[in-house]
Amino acid sequence: MKITDIYETMEYSPAPESPDLALEWLKEQKSKFGLFINGKWCKAKSGKVFSTNNPASGKKLASISEAGKSDVDSAVSAAKRAFPKWKALSGHERARYLYALARQLQKHSRLFAVLETLDNGKTIRETRDIDTPLVIRHFYHHAGWAQVLESEFPEHTAIGPVGQIIPWNFPLLMLSWKVAPALAAGNTVVLKPAEYTSLTAILFAEICEQIALPPGVFNLVTGPGETGSLLVKHPDLKKIAFTGSTDVGRLIREATAHTDKKLTLELGGKSPFIVFEDADLDSAIEGVVDAIWFNQGQVCCAGSRLLVQESVAEKVIERLKKRMAKLRVGDPLDKSMDMGAIIAPIQKERIRNLVEQGKKEGAEVWQWQGTLPQKAGKSGKTVGGCYFPPTFLTNVSPASTVAQTEIFGPVLVSMTFRTPDEAVMLANNSAYGLAASVWSENINQALHVAPKLKCGVVWINCTNQFDASVGFGGYRESGYGREGGHEGMFEYLKKKESGNAKDEFRIPVPKIKASTNGTLSLDRTAKLYIGGKQTRPDSGYSLNVVNADGSLAGEISHGNRKDIRNAVEAAHKASRWQSSTPHLRAQILYFLAENLETRAVEFQNRIMQLTGVSKKQAGFEVKTAVSRIFTYAALADKHEGLIHQPPMRGLALALNEPIGVMGLVCPDETPLLGMLSMLLPAIAMGNTVVLVPSRPFALVATDFYQVLETSDVPSGVLNIVTGDAAELGSVLAKHDDVEGLWVVGTAEECTKMKKFSAGNMKIIWTNNGKQLNWFDKKPSEGREWMRRAAQVKNVWIPYGE
Ligand code: NDP
Repeated sequence: MKITDIYETMEYSPAPESPDLALEWLKEQKSKFGLFINGKWCKAKSGKVFSTNNPASGKKLASISEAGKSDVDSAVSAAKRAFPKWKALSGHERARYLYALARQLQKHSRLFAVLETLDNGKTIRETRDIDTPLVIRHFYHHAGWAQVLESEFPEHTAIGPVGQIIPWNFPLLMLSWKVAPALAAGNTVVLKPAEYTSLTAILFAEICEQIALPPGVFNLVTGPGETGSLLVKHPDLKKIAFTGSTDVGRLIREATAHTDKKLTLELGGKSPFIVFEDADLDSAIEGVVDAIWFNQGQVCCAGSRLLVQESVAEKVIERLKKRMAKLRVGDPLDKSMDMGAIIAPIQKERIRNLVEQGKKEGAEVWQWQGTLPQKAGKSGKTVGGCYFPPTFLTNVSPASTVAQTEIFGPVLVSMTFRTPDEAVMLANNSAYGLAASVWSENINQALHVAPKLKCGVVWINCTNQFDASVGFGGYRESGYGREGGHEGMFEYLKKKESGNAKDEFRIPVPKIKASTNGTLSLDRTAKLYIGGKQTRPDSGYSLNVVNADGSLAGEISHGNRKDIRNAVEAAHKASRWQSSTPHLRAQILYFLAENLETRAVEFQNRIMQLTGVSKKQAGFEVKTAVSRIFTYAALADKHEGLIHQPPMRGLALALNEPIGVMGLVCPDETPLLGMLSMLLPAIAMGNTVVLVPSRPFALVATDFYQVLETSDVPSGVLNIVTGDAAELGSVLAKHDDVEGLWVVGTAEECTKMKKFSAGNMKIIWTNNGKQLNWFDKKPSEGREWMRRAAQVKNVWIPYGE
């Protein structure tokens, strides 16, 4: 027999990891667990409990307390009480706690890994070699951020008690992504794990007890979705961080719309895995295995859409089928398994139904032919586990259900493309935008494609890479906010207060005095500004604008839904602005400043007449506006990304990218400065804009057309639609092709816009009805706004052979 024959015929023997350590731990606790509130264990006040089962066998592992309203209230009030002291600790003191947590996690890593496998059904290979080491790394890394918080984030401070809700697919890892940065930044936490997988969170709470974390700093409320919903609605939580489905994310966004709670949403995905013809195909095939069959495909960023260049498609599909046949599916505690159990029968049924749907829509289905554990057992009886075979669907059309819906199971669909442009188009043909994997030996091509992909993470010639120093998060319906690294820390911090006025501010339209002193002899209706041209409004109607003394100042166009639609279209057409060089954007902004200064007196007079402020005050506004343009011209080529060095042979480039098409609903106060303070960071960052100016002082915006026309701002980069700000803002909020929205308005308007914009999960910022002082640079100018106008994409680039 040749050695190659031996290799071909060799069989795996079982290599089980013993569950004893974890079973012992469960036994010690009599398999009954309470809530962890204010540093103490307690039962739910209702006495209610729920079971947690082992998905690999279907057997019950433990009973867990189900937190109700009064339990959630107790946990939040404990977190609230603990906050001031925890925040007041020095960075070093907090770092020591995080470091102690990391050390304890490390010491108990085997227990954590086995417990996670028992509770979740994922393989021990993954819990032992991926999840737990990453969890430990997260706590070490964030102990570091706690230590240097004051020097690295001098203008920021902790937010307060935060609510965190996590899913079942990476229970301990998601806990670490949420808890470590929150505590490092000085916040206190109430965490709700998924109902299916609470055990490692409970063990983590024990560790908090062991290291004597101050009571109330970390609180654990176990329970179903309803418990999460209680957290979301709790008025004393200052932030909600959520990982889970897009549907629940949308509910949370709507439920928090009337509050000023900070929100990060890490939602679903349908990530493309793009294989170019010049890829190292053997590596790419291994990549696919990792992309879709890792964690049974129950991964938000699973590479579930395989896009292969047509010239190599046949070869790739053939090889992939061969590789699939060799996958090992079975007991998750067996160290030689590639895939373990699906979390629950209901999830398995969902996967099965989607595969059936794919078949009905014309896909060819190829499934792993091995024996699934539930059909095994000595007598051939079912052993009660929940398994689904690795599945591969070819002949899938881009619009079909299986190509668009997140299956959240071990199911890969494949499509082909001919050119790189077509690959990008197919890749972006999804409501989601979490991750993408690009395979090509031509690094120029890979780096050319990466920025064109609408997603938060791009892995070049690798997949499913994660690290505590590298931000993770999505675009579009995959949510917003980043977890991990420098960018992730900002999600748990807020800018220090700088004495803003607290009143609501919007000059109500009925208060605008009716035209009294005379009429205009000629029609001087200012038009809309769309696609670089002054255009008449669809309605044909106009609105009066009145000076502070009651005289008629002029008329503005009454823009409507159709005008917004045209403006959004024009803004999309100007998308080259997004890829223009920051140097070019800076030059154009400097030119804009020059042109505004040339017309300074004109603007000064207009502001004086419309708002009634003194000549000095109006002059100061124009002067500040010119200086503000200079600031953003300066920052345009300085808001650069970072290079992360995760523990691999490679780099991750954190690129600041524009959001895309942004809607801006501008303030009434200081109409020129307020408007420019919102517009400038947006366009300096490369976004294109549809701007709705102040209704009473819109003539300041329409005068600005002259400045634009003499500058080099390309057509469509800025579009201005005048009219009722709240009405037009609502249209922008509901528009699915608007990717970001900033609103300055009353609290009621802000709530409305947040609700309306939940449809496509656009990134939104509002003033929550609070007046900003646009003259004060601290809240109104600088990096904070550039950060708001950008989203971070992390591009992972391995190197070496
Ligand atoms: P869900 O959205 O149903 O649940 C996520 C968490 O939210 C769970 O703790 C759940 O509790 C809780 N929850 C459910 N309903 C509500 C509610 N109305 N208000 C507040 N909390 C609620 O998702 P799954 O648990 O089913 O997880 C799978 C989904 O999560 C997938 O779509 C996946 O893509 C996404 N995901 C995204 C990740 C990312 O980083 N972007 C990472 C991991 C998963 P309970 O479990 O007790 O019902």
